[in-house]
Amino acid sequence: MDTPRRSRLDGEPFPLQRGLPKVHNRLYKSGMASVSLSPRNIAVIGDELAVAWSDGGETYLKLEALRKHCPCAACGGEADLMGNVVRPLVSYGPKSFTLANYRIVGGYALQPVWADGHDTGLYAYPYLRHIGMGQ
Ligand SMILES: [Zn+2]
Repeated sequence: MDTPRRSRLDGEPFPLQRGLPKVHNRLYKSGMASVSLSPRNIAVIGDELAVAWSDGGETYLKLEALRKHCPCAACGGEADLMGNVVRPLVSYGPKSFTLANYRIVGGYALQPVWADGHDTGLYAYPYLRHIGMGQ
């Protein structure tokens, strides 16, 4: 079977894409990419964050869901791997689900910068992928 898998990442302009750390390319060439999950591409498409992973998988995550899974201390980030957590009352504003920017932190996590200024959540790649699968 040779049907090319349709990807919504194909042909997208990646307006928010930033240069990923070069180390990912070296890891890929040395065959270590399979043991180190990393994003090949990150883009905001509509109201979703799209991530193409180094192992070929893809994650599409509503920005609202991404924000509501913020693992930082202020948001009550004690979520277990199943996403079960009793969160403190967190109030969201009209800009809370708009992604202004993001950073790649330490080669292991995505740090979204939200339009309301919140930027303390570090989403480790396995966590990001997990919440993408849990929608
Ligand atoms: Zn937070």
